[in-house]
Amino acid sequence: MLDVLIIGGGISGGSAAIYTAQGGLSTAVIDSGKSQIKQVSKLFNYPGVKEITGSELLENMKEQALASGAEWYEGTVESIDQNEDGYSVIMTDGKELAAKYVVIATNLQTSLLEKLGFELAVNEKVPSGKIKRVLGMNQDGTTKLPNLYITSLLAGLSSQSVIAAGHGASIGISIVSKETGNTYMWHDK
Ligand SMILES: Cc1cc2nc3c(=O)[nH]c(=O)nc-3n(C[C@H](O)[C@H](O)[C@H](O)COP(=O)(O)OP(=O)(O)OC[C@H]3O[C@@H](n4cnc5c(N)ncnc54)[C@H](O)[C@@H]3O)c2cc1C
Repeated sequence: MLDVLIIGGGISGGSAAIYTAQGGLSTAVIDSGKSQIKQVSKLFNYPGVKEITGSELLENMKEQALASGAEWYEGTVESIDQNEDGYSVIMTDGKELAAKYVVIATNLQTSLLEKLGFELAVNEKVPSGKIKRVLGMNQDGTTKLPNLYITSLLAGLSSQSVIAAGHGASIGISIVSKETGNTYMWHDK
């Protein structure tokens, strides 16, 4: 059984994985490869990075997550079931993974949330009016379900990669702090 399973390896999920894996928790990411950031030919608004393609930013995050010790699976999660120990996740190819903590970082894909009984509304921070957020959750990513976190636009935040990355990192830090009982702070020398 894993400590942390992250569903969605885009900007927010990749960032969460870097932090939970670096914090010493066994971490896996399952990603179906459709991050919105792949549509961005050049980003100029990721602070500290003058310009980068969306795909490069994504690939860098994946490499950082792997270097921190995370596992990475390509595929699609079909269902999430809560049990006594945490959560069990089944992929469309039948593979099953179990974890104490789950982070849902699926952005535009909301079917898993609906199956878990979350209600959705329009995320009014996105002008199109087509993007959803989860009702009744907290902006720190926590939800009505124990040890299940939701990131980024689905948490009602704005559509900016730096915000997605920051939210994923913040959730990662919260999970490591909760699991270890010590406030987690990652400061390199
Ligand atoms: C056209 C366009 C231009 C943009 N330009 C900019 C810009 O210039 N600057 C900027 O800061 N931001 C920009 N953005 C926004 C940026 O792309 C998002 O803020 C960011 O990608 C959100 O990160 P995320 O992790 O929430 O979602 P994503 O990066 O979209 O990642 C979600 C991931 O979850 C996966 N997934 C979904 N369902 C499942 C499932 N059931 N099982 C497994 N995996 C699943 C998807 O395949 C995807 O990889 C732009 C977006 C678009 C669409």
